[in-house]
Amino acid sequence: MYQNYNYINHKSIKIFLLSITLLSLTSCTNIPNTSQLKTNNESLKVAIPENKITPKTQPPTKVENLNFTVTPKFAGKTVYKIEPTNKEKVIALTIDDGPWPKTTTEMLDILKQNDVKATFFWVGSALQENPEIAKEVVAEGHAIGNHTWHHWYKKMDAATAKNEIEKTNQLIYKTTGVKTSFFRPPGGYLNNGLAAYAKSQQNSVIMWSVTSADTDRRAKYQVFVKNVLRDAKPGAIVLMHDGGGNRERTVKALPEIISGLKKQGYQFVTIPELLAMEK
Ligand SMILES: [Zn+2]
Repeated sequence: MYQNYNYINHKSIKIFLLSITLLSLTSCTNIPNTSQLKTNNESLKVAIPENKITPKTQPPTKVENLNFTVTPKFAGKTVYKIEPTNKEKVIALTIDDGPWPKTTTEMLDILKQNDVKATFFWVGSALQENPEIAKEVVAEGHAIGNHTWHHWYKKMDAATAKNEIEKTNQLIYKTTGVKTSFFRPPGGYLNNGLAAYAKSQQNSVIMWSVTSADTDRRAKYQVFVKNVLRDAKPGAIVLMHDGGGNRERTVKALPEIISGLKKQGYQFVTIPELLAMEK
């Protein structure tokens, strides 16, 4: 009686332990393949016939680049455009003031359809409102820059300027895991304390050499297209917007801007890629 009980108890402990092992393995988010099971737990070897173990190499997980760093040449500098070392016909689209509902997502779709990577300069307060859109932008492989928290133009003391940039950097990191050393001053104002702080941190202050002028409330979207296609040069930085107001006209202009530039022979690069092309 006692022996029998002991036997059953021993057996049930074994079953219990095996169930725990199986549970802990299946609850893992990274589901192991059979060969991993074998190496992770020798006792499971009996449960898997040898001929079922096919060592498969998993496709590498896509790791987005989450660090947008500036090359030493442009650290602490203001950049309007670059001179590509081999005169390559490259151009960088930059998109400011988002993330923004509807328009950012629409632009992401257009960029994806055309296999174009752009650089988005985010406003911290807009990012706070639209974190999910921000995650999509990063997941699509675009580059990110800082465009302050409030988008103020006014003159700021050092502490306020620092806060405008650092608070935004912190939220960008918290939301997407991105770290960026690219800063664009709102309105392109270089003398209100913001650019000075960004430079003191060895950031690159990114201006532009071509504007779509899409903040012009009266212009038709075709004018934005015309502006960009007329002024495009190798190494240029193009300014447009996805947020800060109704940007439906910019959304309409974007496919024609891209196709027009492609026709002129341009390749699209992000700001970190562009700056790395001037040696
Ligand atoms: Zn702006």
